[in-house]
Amino acid sequence: MSNKIPTRIYLTEDEMPKSWYNLRAVMKNKPDPMLHPGTLQPVTAEDLAPVFCKGVIEQELNETSLHIPIPEDIQDFYRAYRPSPLIRAYYLERALGTPAHIYYKFEGTNTSGSHKLNSAGPQAYYAKKEGLKSLTTETGAGQWGTAMAMACAFYGLELIVYMVKISSQQKPYRKALIEAYGANLIPSPSDTTESGKKILAKDPKTGGSLGCAISEAIETAVKTDKCRYVLGSVLNHVLLHQTVIGQEAQIALEKFGVTPDIIIGCAGGGSNLGGLIAPFMGDKIEGRNEIRFIAVEPASCPSFTRGRYAYDFGDTAQTTPLIRMQTLGSGYIPSPNHAGGLRYHGMNSTLTKLFHDGLLEARSAAQTEVFDAAIQFMKTEGILPAPESSHAIKAAIDEANECKKTGQKKVILFGLSGTGFFDMTAFQSYHEKTMTDQIPTDADLERGFATIPNIPQNVQ
Ligand SMILES: *Cc1c(COP(=O)(O)O)cnc(C)c1O
Repeated sequence: MSNKIPTRIYLTEDEMPKSWYNLRAVMKNKPDPMLHPGTLQPVTAEDLAPVFCKGVIEQELNETSLHIPIPEDIQDFYRAYRPSPLIRAYYLERALGTPAHIYYKFEGTNTSGSHKLNSAGPQAYYAKKEGLKSLTTETGAGQWGTAMAMACAFYGLELIVYMVKISSQQKPYRKALIEAYGANLIPSPSDTTESGKKILAKDPKTGGSLGCAISEAIETAVKTDKCRYVLGSVLNHVLLHQTVIGQEAQIALEKFGVTPDIIIGCAGGGSNLGGLIAPFMGDKIEGRNEIRFIAVEPASCPSFTRGRYAYDFGDTAQTTPLIRMQTLGSGYIPSPNHAGGLRYHGMNSTLTKLFHDGLLEARSAAQTEVFDAAIQFMKTEGILPAPESSHAIKAAIDEANECKKTGQKKVILFGLSGTGFFDMTAFQSYHEKTMTDQIPTDADLERGFATIPNIPQNVQ
């Protein structure tokens, strides 16, 4: 084994990025603007003010500043658990017998177990700075809820977390952890909100979805004094915060003169993938590299590969602004797949645009083959991956096997967005062979598409 490149590459604290990288500023074709659902005009900061903190609204609407300085206070927050390691997957490479060089950026070294803390910190910081008392949010798999609970504990804010009911049942210890950090956790749909009651009336046994939980969290935020809503994915300010991942990876690779040929990430709402690829994609748009970028989504929730490109709501109750995205319809309730963090009907608007401009590829992977990859990875690299992240592992292994066939020595970088310690029910079900792939039929998808709003912007 060559020891030229260390197995783990850590930056020093001084080398960590001091600004976020706003990819939209270099895109020639910008993502379509968010629309107000009543007027169908682009949303203004004022429209968003009842729901979101001012600090993040400014970032959400900023398409022109390429580098947005990270406030000193947030840099301090990041230093509590960053930089994250960039790891050369020597042991996986050896097991595969591939000439490819595989690297992964590992975001699971903090207690919440994922990249989500990179946006939870900034969002709690802006809320505190603006004098708010509490925040509401939703969580699917529980990583975002945990990250937000950690960030709110750090900044002294109250937090209500609406957790997708099926996930709260699959992962009781997630609930315990979120509560240990002091947040109030409510399984969704619940009878604490009007939107929750409506969803329950239609389908009392529903396991819920991120779309339902978002509706409940927004409703509560708008009804509560000095309270706002925070979202852990999908929106552009979340992707912006996540660009610390890609920037750190870029600096670390440059130190060793390594240039990736392929960059892979799993995609739920798109934040870890968007954050990982942002600076590399910016360079590609400006002609400085020819990297292939690949998004991997679950076959059970295929918004890129089988979705429609349309203006749609971000939540089931249809209360959010309209976002032009790859979507399965806000009424689409994905099957209870174990990658809870990837069970969202839509996709970030910037990634959607890159996909349509041919700059980003997408593929889907079925649940059992994703777990095959997870097991192969943990047996060689030792790290227990999150089911979400294992989608990226699956594609990285496929690409490395392709290199084995062709003899090409490609450099593959993938995002290992988190760890799977709270997902042992899933690993157990894989082990006992009760796991199924739950791939939706065309009729299932049509039911979701029927909930996409029928507005002039959506008529082709
Ligand atoms: C939430 C989550 C995801 C999916 O969210 P994105 O916004 O698409 O990144 C992926 N991996 C892990 C570990 C997560 O917690």
